[in-house]
Amino acid sequence: MPNCSKRTKDLQTRTFNPDWTHEYFFIEDYGKPICLICFEKVAVKKLYNIKRHYETRHYEKFSKFTGESRLKEIKRLEQNYQKQTTFFYNLSCEKDDITRTSYEISKIIAKRMKLFSDGEFIKENGLYIWKHIFM
Ligand SMILES: [Zn+2]
Repeated sequence: MPNCSKRTKDLQTRTFNPDWTHEYFFIEDYGKPICLICFEKVAVKKLYNIKRHYETRHYEKFSKFTGESRLKEIKRLEQNYQKQTTFFYNLSCEKDDITRTSYEISKIIAKRMKLFSDGEFIKENGLYIWKHIFM
């Protein structure tokens, strides 16, 4: 079975390797590899793509971090990433709240307008009826 080993190898390359965090500052978020330095997503979970991203964009600045300092830098970047995603998550929730609130307000206004026009209708016609009966 010549295809079997190739397929297994292909599947292995499509799985996020936790070592990529230490080697290339990448984490996996919602199934996508994300660069902790620039928050860019890499479409394919392949060592080649991740390595290329790191080497062409960040190697110069981040290769100086080795051993303990590298671990610290990864932790710092991870916290930074968490903060960013929480911030944007909250922002999108607020946006949802605003949309919901304005929808509720327009519903109330629409209801009031109807009541108001119904009231006007009754008042106007009532006066018409009253005039015709008593004048
Ligand atoms: Zn990057």
